[in-house]
Amino acid sequence: MTSSTAASFTADVYRARMERAARAAAEAGLAGLLVAPGPDLVWLTGYTPPAVTERLTLLVLAAGQDPVLVVPALEAPDARQAAGAPALTLRDWTDGKDPYAATAALLDARGRFGISDNAWALHLLALRQALPGSSYASLTEALPMLRAVKDAAELELMTAAGAAADATFEEIRNVPFAGRRESDVAADLDRLLRRHGHEQVDFTIVASGPHGADPHHEAGDRVIERGDMVVLDFGGLKDGYGSDTSRTVHVGEPTDEERRVHDVVRAAQEAGFRAVRPGAACQDVDRAARAVIADAGYGEYFIHRTGHGIGVTTHEPPYMIEGEERPLVPGMCFSVEPGIYLPGRFGVRIEDIVTVTEDGGRRLNTTTRELVIVE
Ligand code: ZN
Ligand code: ZN
Ligand code: ZN
Repeated sequence: MTSSTAASFTADVYRARMERAARAAAEAGLAGLLVAPGPDLVWLTGYTPPAVTERLTLLVLAAGQDPVLVVPALEAPDARQAAGAPALTLRDWTDGKDPYAATAALLDARGRFGISDNAWALHLLALRQALPGSSYASLTEALPMLRAVKDAAELELMTAAGAAADATFEEIRNVPFAGRRESDVAADLDRLLRRHGHEQVDFTIVASGPHGADPHHEAGDRVIERGDMVVLDFGGLKDGYGSDTSRTVHVGEPTDEERRVHDVVRAAQEAGFRAVRPGAACQDVDRAARAVIADAGYGEYFIHRTGHGIGVTTHEPPYMIEGEERPLVPGMCFSVEPGIYLPGRFGVRIEDIVTVTEDGGRRLNTTTRELVIVE
């Protein structure tokens, strides 16, 4: 298991992010944010603990207060090495001491706090016991757009991650498909992503023939045959930032129907991309892509949202889904990935990561969206 390598920014960048987060929390009516080890902590401080254990590590952010990182004493030397450490006050605690009482002393006793979705229940329950008047909200629900808008340096890393995924596709289209198991091709994808600089691979979907009709199918023992459509969907983290792309290939010559379905998905993906511009609502991207598929008569076979945000994780807000009315803002990065899934037969999905620019969108995946024939 490779641990993720955080991209390193200057302490000033982390300081600004923490200030922005504390302000956003105050605007959302929260007394502060409690950030556990995970993607939010990495984004806010550059710090990943050597291991996540039952010992409390927690970043406390509150408007008008200096950020404090509560950290086990034995991990304090590591925490001091984090790129964001100069912007933090470290409060270390030794075994046998009560870290919750120490944390509670930093907090408004009757406050409502945003807490990381992945914080352990163990820690939340102990905090509630230490501060009976406090209450809590999911950080992702309270501040869904906290990490959504990427700055120039982050966009460069996102672009590089996309290029690495594209280089992976350019190589995988030349490996043999017919006669090999899905899991063999998936292993190729994993190896190629790592060779192109990914330190973490999150998924390597190879869904052949009827498996392609199941968007959640990963890769199994099925032997790929001539005549199969194969959905490939792969990505992970390169230098701490995410990639995620899908292409659907065909083994040998496709039928007219297979070409037609692929053309519909390609047109839908293009329509979704063209709907990307500042001020458009997230749901507009979904509507644009879905309309193309519905008009072609396949509406009931497009069974998931059109896209999801991506950054220091491969799935996060904003979501391109009906009902999501938040506006697109330059610097947001998300997938546009419509699909058609014909039960028992085959599926097609085409996915690019797109970033919002001042006057539209820019694709971070640029491999051909034509149907690629593999052998
Ligand atoms: Zn076929
Ligand atoms: Zn994907
Ligand atoms: Zn995706």
